[in-house]
Amino acid sequence: MKTKKAGNQTVSVHNYSVVIIGAGAAGMNCAVHLYEFMADKGIENAADKIAVVTAGIGLGASRMSGSDKQTYYKMGTSPEVADSAEDFSKSLTGAGCCHGDLALAEGIGSLREFYHLVRAGVPFPHDPMGSYVGYKTDHDPYERATSAGPKTSRFMSQCLQRQVEDYGIKIFDSQEAVQLFTSGSGDDKRIVGIVTMDKTKADKSNYALNLFLAENMVLAAGGPGEMYETSVYPKGQVGIHGLAFEAGLAGENLTESQFGLASTKFRWNVSGTYMQVVPRIFSTDADGKDEQEFLTPFFPTMSKMATNIFLKGYQWPFDPQRIENLLSSLVDILVFNENQKGRRVFMDFLKNPVPGEGMKEFALEDLEQEALTYLKSTGAQQATPIERLAHMNPLAIDIYKENGIDLYKEPLEIAVCAQHNNGGFGVSRWWESNIKHTFIIGEMAGSHGVKRPGGSALNAGQAGGLRAAEYIANVYGGEVADYSGRESEVDEQLQECIGRLDTISASGVARTATEAIKEIQHRMTTSGGHIRELNDAKKALADTVALYKDIESKGLKVTDTKELVAAVQARHLSLGSAGYLKAVVALLEQGSGSRGSHLVVSADGSEIHPDVINKSTSKPLKYKPENEELRKTILRVQMDEGSADLFKAENIQPRPLPKDRKAFEPAWQDYREGNIYGG
Ligand SMILES: Cc1cc2nc3c(=O)[nH]c(=O)nc-3n(C[C@H](O)[C@H](O)[C@H](O)COP(=O)(O)OP(=O)(O)OC[C@H]3O[C@@H](n4cnc5c(N)ncnc54)[C@H](O)[C@@H]3O)c2cc1C
Repeated sequence: MKTKKAGNQTVSVHNYSVVIIGAGAAGMNCAVHLYEFMADKGIENAADKIAVVTAGIGLGASRMSGSDKQTYYKMGTSPEVADSAEDFSKSLTGAGCCHGDLALAEGIGSLREFYHLVRAGVPFPHDPMGSYVGYKTDHDPYERATSAGPKTSRFMSQCLQRQVEDYGIKIFDSQEAVQLFTSGSGDDKRIVGIVTMDKTKADKSNYALNLFLAENMVLAAGGPGEMYETSVYPKGQVGIHGLAFEAGLAGENLTESQFGLASTKFRWNVSGTYMQVVPRIFSTDADGKDEQEFLTPFFPTMSKMATNIFLKGYQWPFDPQRIENLLSSLVDILVFNENQKGRRVFMDFLKNPVPGEGMKEFALEDLEQEALTYLKSTGAQQATPIERLAHMNPLAIDIYKENGIDLYKEPLEIAVCAQHNNGGFGVSRWWESNIKHTFIIGEMAGSHGVKRPGGSALNAGQAGGLRAAEYIANVYGGEVADYSGRESEVDEQLQECIGRLDTISASGVARTATEAIKEIQHRMTTSGGHIRELNDAKKALADTVALYKDIESKGLKVTDTKELVAAVQARHLSLGSAGYLKAVVALLEQGSGSRGSHLVVSADGSEIHPDVINKSTSKPLKYKPENEELRKTILRVQMDEGSADLFKAENIQPRPLPKDRKAFEPAWQDYREGNIYGG
């Protein structure tokens, strides 16, 4: 490690072959495979060539998020039902806007990575014959899902971290990303490193900056959690989408975020058994008084209402195509409708659903066939939801207890929350971005289409990290970054970066960094969330661009280290959210309708119910059906400083599912000669 003087700062400079940003399940897995591929290639001191850099080892969705039994979707392992990678890939591409080669690679890599996790120590359950038992999730035609309980992804990150540490790979913790540095232009452009701020040492005069230079960058910084106000992403999951746009990376399918019902006091998804035990769902006023059974007026019978609550278990993400004809996403809309009125919504596990006027009392036998059969087959026929939950999944109760909520004593407040982005940054079949030597994995990669089977995010993060690691070790080797010939380019960016930090932390303005972030979050939830409307989104985009420009030119009020870090985040969150809103506007301008996990409001659309109101017009909410023609394209968004809204958008064609299969001998030759990395 060397140091460099720049402005009034002393910056620590580190040189690596590969720097991985993010220590979630995806980043840690990639580090493990990189080490192994490099060592296999005979690259000496492989561990010293790799660094993992993160804002917090304990942060991120993998470490902090989950549900009743967090799902890992893999290729089928049933001893009697055959599965294939091609069938698997079709489940991923089914709703359109998905590259076939990525879907196939996720299928092919699935079991290799699943068994890697098993070997790393993740306690996935198997039966006496050693068969890994599966179950069915949303958008899943097979029983490919498995789980190691509510904390599956935490176990994954912890087990993989152990491997990273065993190999001696260095992890730099508490490093807030500040800026990605680039060199060159056009096809020669590279991301050469990242500047981070050490949160344990920084203050207003000493920014405690580190510069990590690398031949290859792997971006694994997760989803854009802190962009949203109503969110089940864990607190502190900021992401680096704004920095990635600034460096020239191309976003794909950014419009395709998932939203769904989650608890808000402790951020956790209430999918699976939480809903399958059919709890009472009620609302109160802002002070927790005036309890109302708000769902009952919208359903003709108790059986229909209770069955829909049950179905929310595995039809979890909000899906606008499951509203009409009293389907399960009507429940999300009704929860949202209550929240819009300023009312709070709770799940009560102590009581069964309470009937409205003219409805029968709740009785398990009255549930529709699918729900009743499931509850009978699992033996969950106890009298109350909490007893059924304790029977089916006691860990689902424990996780709340560990986080200060006793489901035996208090109801659980819920809302429709942002939880995952199917889109992200575009990657090749080797998870390389549009900038050579920069790879994007995990939730930051835009590898999913409009819909994905529940649990496939974790699979994609593992399969993608494996592919990136193999390519880096075999094609780019273990060269350590040496930018001595281009030092002036790096120095110039360092000066600029420090100048910008001086500006954004200028305390002359009234707006604090925290206020700026709240503004971004409110706008994203209101205008780029699960309910969207063109004019509203256009205004939100213009306001966000104005905020970004304001922060760049005037800075924010910074009083302490926390606000300094928040100012860094506010700057790139404002740019990142402008990229997301640009995508939302561009898709709506193409005449898109309701798809994936968002609903498009339109005056000439279908009415849900006279009492489900569009808050901006106070009239019944009407929504537009999907424009299926748009399934054939992927919306790509890139920063374009010349454009008034800072971004340009275009449609690209999804790459098809590769069909080129070779006989063994020629395939072996391709492998021996490294030709497999050509495409
Ligand atoms: C409530 C919930 C339930 C979910 N359930 C499932 C499920 O059942 N099945 C499934 O497949 N998926 C599920 N997901 C999605 C899945 O958990 C995530 O997509 C996945 O864990 C992301 O892994 P990752 O390694 O890409 O990123 P993360 O695990 O989010 O890690 C990101 C890393 O980057 C670091 N980082 C972030 N921002 C910065 C920054 N600005 N500077 C420096 N470092 C930074 C973080 O500290 C962290 O180390 C769920 C998500 C949520 C929120």
